[in-house]
Amino acid sequence: MNEPWPRIDLKALDSGVAPDADWYRDFCGAIVGAATARPVAQPQETTPIHCASSPDSEPCGGHIRLLTAIDGTEIRWACNRCGLRGILVGWEGSTYDLSGVEWPDADWLEVELLASQYDALLGVGFTDPVARRILGTARGATVAVVLRCPREALAHLRDEMERAAEHARTAGDWELFDQVFRRIEGVLGPR
Ligand SMILES: [Zn+2]
Repeated sequence: MNEPWPRIDLKALDSGVAPDADWYRDFCGAIVGAATARPVAQPQETTPIHCASSPDSEPCGGHIRLLTAIDGTEIRWACNRCGLRGILVGWEGSTYDLSGVEWPDADWLEVELLASQYDALLGVGFTDPVARRILGTARGATVAVVLRCPREALAHLRDEMERAAEHARTAGDWELFDQVFRRIEGVLGPR
């Protein structure tokens, strides 16, 4: 297959040209977040981002893989199951670009979660930039999802989760949310 890779310009998507741009912009935005959140993207790194393709109205079921570290202005990605792929440009400075969110480059920790636990955490819809960057570092997809960030950032996420927990939540989500919270507390150790 030697067809050219589709180039997707985030700036053009943001201007709302396409009628179905909303979900597609969020899908592309999640890929930008994943690529810009991690300090060094590993080639062929699979993310928990679900493929947007749905042939015959059935979701593809694959996950998005980051194919290269950010090379200048291009983010190259592909589904690990179907042929969906693309090159993202024009993402710098967009709301999805997490590269400007700063945290100390020290005392790195990893948190391993089940995919369902990660989805519950994502479902909170954090607007806090540090929390968004931590979620963006997720790698792995089907069984375990691993987050990697400095201790100080993880402690910040714990505080944000405590804040989120004060709002009403559905019972199912709450259980998963609580599991993630206890997991993070375990990694951070005693306060
Ligand atoms: Zn796919």
